[in-house]
Amino acid sequence: MKQRIEALRENLRKASLDAAVVKSGVNIRYYSGFTSSEAIFLVTLKGTYLITDFRYLIQAQAQTLGLCAIIDANFPAQLGKIGELLLADGCKRAGFEQDVISVGEFRKYEAMPFEWVPFGNELSLPRAIKSADEIENLRAAQRIADKSFLEWLGRIGAGMSEKEAVAELNYVCAKNGSDAPSFDPIIAAGPNGAMPHAVPGERKMQKGDLVTADLGCMINGYHSDMTRTFAIGSIDDESREIYEIVKTAQQMALDAVKSGIPGKVLDAVARDYITEKGFGAQFGHGLGHGIGLEIHETPFLRVFNEDILASGMTVTIEPGIYLEGKCGVRIEDCCVVTDDGCLNLVSLTKELITI
Ligand code: ZN
Ligand code: ZN
Repeated sequence: MKQRIEALRENLRKASLDAAVVKSGVNIRYYSGFTSSEAIFLVTLKGTYLITDFRYLIQAQAQTLGLCAIIDANFPAQLGKIGELLLADGCKRAGFEQDVISVGEFRKYEAMPFEWVPFGNELSLPRAIKSADEIENLRAAQRIADKSFLEWLGRIGAGMSEKEAVAELNYVCAKNGSDAPSFDPIIAAGPNGAMPHAVPGERKMQKGDLVTADLGCMINGYHSDMTRTFAIGSIDDESREIYEIVKTAQQMALDAVKSGIPGKVLDAVARDYITEKGFGAQFGHGLGHGIGLEIHETPFLRVFNEDILASGMTVTIEPGIYLEGKCGVRIEDCCVVTDDGCLNLVSLTKELITI
């Protein structure tokens, strides 16, 4: 954490800033180790402060390990504390997270005698490249997801609703050690699979369905993300055909991952193949995204994006084909980018599983 804060101070100096007000939960966690978002983390060129209230004081002391001064203040008073600390440290220009602070809150900042400079993704960008510890957390989360998925397949089948299947999945993941689901799992059967972000409902899975299962587990704040599409009984030829196309496109993109490649080039690898097979219009979302303390974070692998992959980034590769009124297929792995390829964190087969 100390190195992260020093790197942040270096960037403040370069930007002629005296301080950064960190408000988003993930960035507070990344820079301080404190795991609640009910706080403000303030880094000046002279000092480091975590402002939180009585409910979190013991937790804050334990998690920040002497890294910063812990200041006890409730929310409205926290803003006044920021002002006092900035004045005490002689600050004039301070950065704030423009996508996190509300307009109402910003008006209170403006009333203080400092120049406020909006941050875009300056605070979250350093999170894109993961340390060995972070990768170990991501790996542990994915390992639980892989194990849970296989166990879950043995507990579900035709006649069970999507919602019941979600309940089973959440139970199995928790039992296997996941801290929490990475996101609400997407279990979409038959025609519901045509909606990439379908909300699981009452529809019962039935023979002949393709079922899309997109799920993740969490360990120490780090998310896993994986999708497999499987069959219930035998499926028709068109469903089988699109499954094979998505599987090949996904493997082509995985094979092309390496440090230095732009995300949009990877997107094109999968998209061009799917388009060549006649289903370009049915692949309407990006190829993938970075993953870490947030489920979706930099870099993004999509058509209109300039992010370039670098060693140590963790990204998902998740092409899909969605046929309205019929079914959908998506296959998703998450992997660590290396100098000359990638390390896939998902161990599950991509051959079509039939239950
Ligand atoms: Zn996913
Ligand atoms: Zn994803």
